[in-house]
Amino acid sequence: MGKYGAECDSDTDTGGSGAKRTDRLGNENGKGNRFAAMAKGFLGRNLLTILTVVGVVAGSITGVLLRNFTGGKWSDRDTMYLAFPGEIFLRMLKALIIPLLMSSVIHAIGSLDLSLSKKIAIRSILYYTATTICAVILGMILVVVIRPGVGGTPWTGDKKEEIRRDVLTQDTLLDLIRNVFPPNLVQACVAQSQTFLIKPSNSPTNYSAPKPLEEWKFEERYENTTNVLGLVTFSIIFGIALGKLGERAKVLLDFFEAISEAMMIITSWVIWISPLGVYFLVAAKVLEIDSFADLVGRLGLYFVTVLLGLTLHGFGTLSVLYFIATRTLPFGVIAQLSQVLVTAFGTASSSATMPITIQTMDKLGLDPRVTRFVIPIGATINMDGTALYEAVAAIFIAQLRNLPLTFGKTVAVCVTATAASIGAAGIPQAGLVTMVMVLDTVGLPSEDVINIIAVDWLLDRFRTTINVMCDCLGAKLVDVLSVGELGEPITAADRVNAEPQELVELKHDSRM
Ligand code: ASP
Repeated sequence: MGKYGAECDSDTDTGGSGAKRTDRLGNENGKGNRFAAMAKGFLGRNLLTILTVVGVVAGSITGVLLRNFTGGKWSDRDTMYLAFPGEIFLRMLKALIIPLLMSSVIHAIGSLDLSLSKKIAIRSILYYTATTICAVILGMILVVVIRPGVGGTPWTGDKKEEIRRDVLTQDTLLDLIRNVFPPNLVQACVAQSQTFLIKPSNSPTNYSAPKPLEEWKFEERYENTTNVLGLVTFSIIFGIALGKLGERAKVLLDFFEAISEAMMIITSWVIWISPLGVYFLVAAKVLEIDSFADLVGRLGLYFVTVLLGLTLHGFGTLSVLYFIATRTLPFGVIAQLSQVLVTAFGTASSSATMPITIQTMDKLGLDPRVTRFVIPIGATINMDGTALYEAVAAIFIAQLRNLPLTFGKTVAVCVTATAASIGAAGIPQAGLVTMVMVLDTVGLPSEDVINIIAVDWLLDRFRTTINVMCDCLGAKLVDVLSVGELGEPITAADRVNAEPQELVELKHDSRM
């Protein structure tokens, strides 16, 4: 009992009414002070998160107000001006991705002994696989039960040719494997392989073209997107090699550790721009939308199906898996992820959120060797939200087109949706691009993605949030399972963020 409580007890004993009044006042003052102190502490600890949430909400409101009160649709140029501060924020985060990702993975793997890296890798991969399969199955069950597309009409507008992408599922899968093995690391930082099909001249443009796609000529091109998958693979292999070198590699491991920590320091600066960044990104995005009317009707039902799936997966399936593995519920951890989740929502990019994800996991006291293994790899290949969405969207379009789904096709959709989520880059609406592969499995043409485009920008934000949340819970789960094997952790947070007396608390908290 505190100071004020003790005063209260002694005053009550005197029995005088004046004394009682003083007591009541003192007690109320005491409660008020304590409440004020608690509120101040809460605000202090969560100021950035609160500001970022305010940024998202205020950005949406600003977007809606600007749409309605500035007379008509904004031009692309004006929208670009509005998005500009957000674009700068995104650029800052993106600049951190390659140095942070490579140095973190190399140092994390190089500083563990091989058998331990193997254990962590197996745990992580089991987690990624289990959660992605659960997400796809959940999506399939929901879309088959809710049937959002049954009775709807597919898009018959004239934009189809603009959307059309001629690709073969086998090419997409082979590109995925090609990108795992980049021939040139410098090139991998700026480009990745993509197979292009060359349309035979004077072939009709509709998808019932006489020459099947398999007979078209093809060529391998390099697209201007970082090959994150290739960089992660190289970093893992390089880390293992450094681990094998032992003492002789120490200087290199220290070098990569220093780079990784320097990136984390820069992240802790950039993160303060996130409220403003997401404010402008969200406001500009709301301005770009053609119409909100899409959110009613069949497309609205599809939207609700995906959203329901993401919520059930994020708070149901993941919690159950987490509980089975650790015997604790994850809600306490999820509550501390708010900054990461709001940033994922605001940027719609798991890769851009990665520096903030790693920083938050450091603050939660996880062993940095686990965080720096699970988070970068997870941000690249583990996308549960995307996998669930790919399955729901493909079946939704099949329902719109009244296509019967055999058991074989259902299984094929599950497999390709998983592959499509692995292949999707951690950037905005990457899932829409790999969707072509899933549509192909159901026997639908690529331009049918037009049926879901209107709401994709918003769904993308929700699925990115779940993608990132799944990585964070994975890191925590692997950390809990690896306690005792890793030895005493000296976290990057210890060195970068914490004062000496906080280090003890951090270490203590992390093992609770
Ligand atoms: N935007 C998602 C991410 O970065 C990928 C997607 O589903 O489009 O995680």
